[in-house]
Amino acid sequence: MVEFCPKCGSVMVPRVINGKKVLVCPRCGYIKETNSGKKAVLSRKIRHDEREKTFVIDSKDSLKGLPKTKGVRCPKCGYDEAYYIILQTRSADEPPTRIYICARCGYTWREYE
Ligand SMILES: [Zn+2]
Ligand SMILES: [Zn+2]
Repeated sequence: MVEFCPKCGSVMVPRVINGKKVLVCPRCGYIKETNSGKKAVLSRKIRHDEREKTFVIDSKDSLKGLPKTKGVRCPKCGYDEAYYIILQTRSADEPPTRIYICARCGYTWREYE
């Protein structure tokens, strides 16, 4: 059975992480747990993988407390309100990355300052 990444639509590939079977998106790094019996426990924090420069937001609850901004447009649904996070990359030469999360559909995209 083929699963598609909910973030970018790539085909997810099965991996084993910490003894758990998960599906990993090779393109954006999104990780989906494959627990079939019980509901997957969603982590509430945002992981940031420096090497891959990817991040995963697993739960909409993790958006609570994030600043919101208007005047951006979700590329997916066109909504004009989004939460945002600013990630400072490891190298000081690189500008910080601003991550937007659509307040309506949860789509995540990034923009460089
Ligand atoms: Zn993806
Ligand atoms: Zn949206």
